[in-house]
Amino acid sequence: MTTRFLKVRMGRAVGASPSTVRKNALEASHLAVRMFHVGHGEAILIVFPGRRTWLIDAGCTNAKNKNEILGNRILDYLDENDLFLEAIIPSHPHADHTLAMQSVLELESDRVAEPITVYRSDDPAWDRKKDPKWIAKFRKAVRPFVREEIFKDSLEEIETPVGADAECLMFSNGKTTKQYRSLFVYLRFHNARFLFTGDATKKYERDIIFGFDQFDFTADVLKVTHHGSEHGTDPSVLNAVNPGIAIASTGPDAGHRLEQVTLDELNDNNARVFETLVDGDITLQTDGLPFEKGVLFKVITETPGEFASELETTIDPTGGRP
Ligand SMILES: [Zn+2]
Repeated sequence: MTTRFLKVRMGRAVGASPSTVRKNALEASHLAVRMFHVGHGEAILIVFPGRRTWLIDAGCTNAKNKNEILGNRILDYLDENDLFLEAIIPSHPHADHTLAMQSVLELESDRVAEPITVYRSDDPAWDRKKDPKWIAKFRKAVRPFVREEIFKDSLEEIETPVGADAECLMFSNGKTTKQYRSLFVYLRFHNARFLFTGDATKKYERDIIFGFDQFDFTADVLKVTHHGSEHGTDPSVLNAVNPGIAIASTGPDAGHRLEQVTLDELNDNNARVFETLVDGDITLQTDGLPFEKGVLFKVITETPGEFASELETTIDPTGGRP
């Protein structure tokens, strides 16, 4: 396990040396974003103060057994850490982002709120009459427990039941018809800002970021879209978001790794990059409070990661890049 403190200020992350008092204060009250190393897939747990959590995506390949393992392990993790799941946010209707959510719901754990809230876009794939089999099963698992919030072509602010210090806005673009509609999640905790982008491709990213042009998408932390594939991370979008830290859920297979061109874009933008294929589980903690005119983050990386052995995912220090 490696722990670092970083200060993010105006799109740049540098090493920080907080006092013991400040470290203890951060430890006592923080928001945490935990991106698990799941290989080909994505699973991100947001932990708010007060033991409340949201799950943004949870899936690993489209294999049933792996997703059952992941779903089980996420519930174990909630149990071991005394956490409660209040919402699931499947960013888009793909198995490697959602299938473990089905397991989480089917296991009927008392760690899961009932009804649980599902935030999702109105991507037609969620509701098509001729569903792919897994979506039909997912909907069957979801329906009994759920309060659904569906986003269309609108900018909406979600009231989060997490206290006055956090707020969240979600964005989707119903006008984009040719690509799946990833729900963007913009989260603020005091002064810390996060942007989660699902698997958006470049055009969709631009449609969101420049479509809602009164909104300032600047974020300290960017969840890199589409596992870092070259189809996402548009330079103009990166420029607008201007992240100091970038996190990516990456696997060893082509199409789910941080490609060199994406890495170059992130580096050119001075973002400090962490990816699961290289760093294992990535946890960011922040109290969101000012630190030397920036925001303080504690970054913990753990290789190979909490669930890696059971999901048969390994670390590749090269990130699979030549
Ligand atoms: Zn994906």
